[in-house]
Amino acid sequence: METFPMSQFPRPIIVISKCLGFAACRYDAQMVESPFVESMKPFVEFIDVCPECEIGLGLPRKPIRIVLDGEKRLVQPATGRDLTDNMKDFAESYLEELDDFDGFILKSKSPSCGLGTTKAFSDDKAHKFMHSHENGFFADAVISGYSHLPIVDELGIADPLLRDHFLARIFALASFREAASLRTTQGLLDYHTRNKLLFMAYNQDLMRIMGDVVANGEGCKVDEVYEHYLPMLVELLSKPADSGSVVNAMMHAFGYFSRKLSARDKFLFLNKLQAYREDNSAIFELRKILISRAQEFELEYLCAQTFFSPYPPELSDSL
Ligand code: SF4
Repeated sequence: METFPMSQFPRPIIVISKCLGFAACRYDAQMVESPFVESMKPFVEFIDVCPECEIGLGLPRKPIRIVLDGEKRLVQPATGRDLTDNMKDFAESYLEELDDFDGFILKSKSPSCGLGTTKAFSDDKAHKFMHSHENGFFADAVISGYSHLPIVDELGIADPLLRDHFLARIFALASFREAASLRTTQGLLDYHTRNKLLFMAYNQDLMRIMGDVVANGEGCKVDEVYEHYLPMLVELLSKPADSGSVVNAMMHAFGYFSRKLSARDKFLFLNKLQAYREDNSAIFELRKILISRAQEFELEYLCAQTFFSPYPPELSDSL
């Protein structure tokens, strides 16, 4: 049997909290082991940063905390230092200087990097925290400038479906970035074509509008076509695909070869689809079934679809 090649994967560029497997830079001079981040290293270009080290806090260092006393401040209780302006200035200038990138992985619960998981206190000395759903200061800057990009913390990507969504987004965005760097109409057409089923699973209406933008691009300036397409791509990927749309995309793919299957194989596939309706995690097995059938029947169009393998299979193994 001839095996058609599956998609080639671009290398997403991800800004990551340095303590997640890159350096022992936490306040206690420890590093956080993240097996998933380790597994991503061969496939992702990481830009690691420790905002607290960057503003000159040493190692080890006295803990810092967020204080809400009329305003939001970043303080170091042991020294009485107020680090608010330092951190805000650093975050703003650091993010401004970065070139293209595709998303963020931040460390949870940190007064700098935490994403809605950080403790906030009423003052420097309080022993009890007011709540534990604050953003860190660096995370605030990330959210305010880049909410259109995937932003997760290491707790979020522990959930297999959220991780799947995050990975699908960063690889789709990186692939677009790669196509956009060449700025050809054909490059965008190829990009849209190989992502069609994935986009159908995310948002069929928007997928069609994006298809029209690409199809009607002839005669327009290529830059304008890319600029028109990108915000729609970002919007399309902003929410996880709902199960009804995923089933539609799966049935669309199934239609390419269902007549070639025995009644028993059809029954098994439709049963698995029913299992997916009840438990979304069945999506990983369904993708494998569909791509193996597409390869068996030498369906080149389907084999090239990112929907079945939106990111390197090695990363699926950790799901
Ligand atoms: S959470 Fe952020 S600031 Fe804290 S050690 Fe990690 S990278 Fe540095």
